[in-house]
Amino acid sequence: MAKVELNALAGDAASRFPLGRIHSIETMGTVDGPGIRLVVFCQGCPMRCAYCHNPDTWAAGADAGTPASVEHILELFESNHAFYRSGGITVSGGEPLLQPDFVGALFTAAHDSPHGRIHTCLDTSGIAFDPAAPERFDALLGACDLVLLDIKHADPAVHRELTGRSAARILAFGDELARRGIPVVIRHVVVPGYTDSVEECERLGRLIAPWRNVVGLEMLPYHTMGVVKYERLGMPYRLADVPAMDKARIPELRQAVLRGMKAARSGA
Ligand code: SF4
Repeated sequence: MAKVELNALAGDAASRFPLGRIHSIETMGTVDGPGIRLVVFCQGCPMRCAYCHNPDTWAAGADAGTPASVEHILELFESNHAFYRSGGITVSGGEPLLQPDFVGALFTAAHDSPHGRIHTCLDTSGIAFDPAAPERFDALLGACDLVLLDIKHADPAVHRELTGRSAARILAFGDELARRGIPVVIRHVVVPGYTDSVEECERLGRLIAPWRNVVGLEMLPYHTMGVVKYERLGMPYRLADVPAMDKARIPELRQAVLRGMKAARSGA
């Protein structure tokens, strides 16, 4: 992992585009979209996932994070263009949908790059989508090549317990992506005692079955590497007693999701 010095990207007051508030930038991302990617981590998230490894991205608002301009991010990308040949730019978080104007401007500029079209990917929980004002996301979604959509739990009550939020906006965002035909990879963190039952995974499969634009499924085994961050920040960690997920069970649970999808699509 290579993080860039954010001072070098400080917001450019002369930018033609809305500035972003960002947490950090990873210049050699290999897990958030295809190929090697520049990954921009936005500042601010309204969710409070019990297993979140980045609680330092939660704070939102004018004073949180570091301002960054579209121009500076693209310059950083272009300075290593050959390196990103089969990759592109991913915007992650925190929650990038909190800043649709910035992300929309960045993605549009990436597609229009004079050095060649740059592949764009949005890594999101979908929580900040507003189904009452979908037009606010037109620019962003109109220039988005791929979405990594994180579904935390298929059961509404457990979803709220695990994240502090209803899943309604997340599901509405999934519906919006399906309506637009934007390719989506579903991500699901598998946490012992929370999301590791065959029943829950089958239910997840049924939940996402109507979305015909789903092109991939990533089952991410929960690990405990984020615990030290909570200790450093002096924050309580809700899953302190939960062990890391046994990776050997992931294929079985993945099959359960696919089985649920297939059953729902066949009307069973
Ligand atoms: S949505 Fe992501 S950044 Fe926000 S609390 Fe959950 S895991 Fe953390």
